[in-house]
Amino acid sequence: KAPQNVALIVGVTGIVGNSLAEILPVSDTPGGPWKVYGVARRPRPAWNADHPVQYIQCDVSDPTQTQSKLAPLTDITHIFWVTWANRPTEAECCDINGTMLQNVYDALLPNAPNLTHICIQTGQKHYIGPFETFGKVKPHETPFVEDVPRLDVPNFYYTLEDLTLEACKKKEGLTWSVHRPAAIFGFSPHSMMNMMDSLCVYAAICKHENVPLKFPGTKASWNCYFVCSDADLIAEQQIWSSVDLNGKNEAFNCSNGDLFKWKQMWKVLADSFEVEYEEFDENQEYVSLAERMKDKGPVWDEIVEKNNLLPTKLEEVATFWFADLMFYGECMLDNMNKSKEHGFFGFRNSEKTVLSVIDKMKAHKIVP
Ligand code: NDP
Repeated sequence: KAPQNVALIVGVTGIVGNSLAEILPVSDTPGGPWKVYGVARRPRPAWNADHPVQYIQCDVSDPTQTQSKLAPLTDITHIFWVTWANRPTEAECCDINGTMLQNVYDALLPNAPNLTHICIQTGQKHYIGPFETFGKVKPHETPFVEDVPRLDVPNFYYTLEDLTLEACKKKEGLTWSVHRPAAIFGFSPHSMMNMMDSLCVYAAICKHENVPLKFPGTKASWNCYFVCSDADLIAEQQIWSSVDLNGKNEAFNCSNGDLFKWKQMWKVLADSFEVEYEEFDENQEYVSLAERMKDKGPVWDEIVEKNNLLPTKLEEVATFWFADLMFYGECMLDNMNKSKEHGFFGFRNSEKTVLSVIDKMKAHKIVP
């Protein structure tokens, strides 16, 4: 009898980490019943606490802490890498993200004899280059396909792949998969890049101030086709790769499989927060969402108090800079053929994805 599958989610309170923490312990999840450990630095937040996961507070950038907290977990069979660290330059990103991953490998490879699979989450910056080279290097042609050569620039996604392939060479039978989502739509007030949570907070502020919900992006982003990746869908693809032979030793794009335009979805957001919907106005000067929201900290505090919400700070629950990036130019489309050809047929209806994130934001009392 194969040993029970035991997951380590590194980044368990992140946008996909929280979905993995919800889905993995469910009894009919493929490969189940899973035992699940989850790692993050901060104390466990209330909105993550119902998932049956052994929560471990550990900073994986610290080798000593990582050894002492993770090396004793000798029953781990699968690693789900859904974390990252940001730094001013991509060279520094390569350094810190590589160190974090290597610290986990150093703690687990010699100590977890049944370790069989590693899922690494990266993203579309694999095809367009890191933030610092946006507009400076020629990106790959869209729709992105997985098996194109790397761009000739440093990219911490490449570092993660290289370290993982090295680790798998060292341990017979150890396999890997790389998952490359587009903009992730999911629930996590601890995420460093969360477009939907930011839009929910923006809508709540517009409602509170009794002003219409203006679209804070460019004309191109209002009109273009947009793809997103439901966080639960990404979790499902990672779990599929973990247990299905066809999902191993490959990189896969992961997006919902449909298209939408913000000119359509904006109404869904406005209706959900009962705020007046406003069409994109061509004559309006472009003002980024970060700029529009820069003085709204005290307003957010008022909203939290008035509606008896979970206490949060604006800069913690909203990552407006990321929404600005997504709303600046045309969306980058990807292609899901490889994933389907290998046997993962998951998809999502993006409108339902949006509604489900809004529901979770309200249910956990992050927004009114
Ligand atoms: P999130 O920012 O949503 O979550 C990060 C998680 O990791 C949190 O649980 C955080 O909790 C934890 N964490 C951060 N640093 C450490 C550390 N040193 N030790 C232990 N835990 C840590 O992650 P994402 O899912 O967004 O990011 C994963 C990958 O996905 C990244 O490479 C990102 O570029 C990529 N991606 C993300 C997209 C998005 O829309 N978010 C889109 C496409 C790709 P805590 O802070 O408490 O430690």
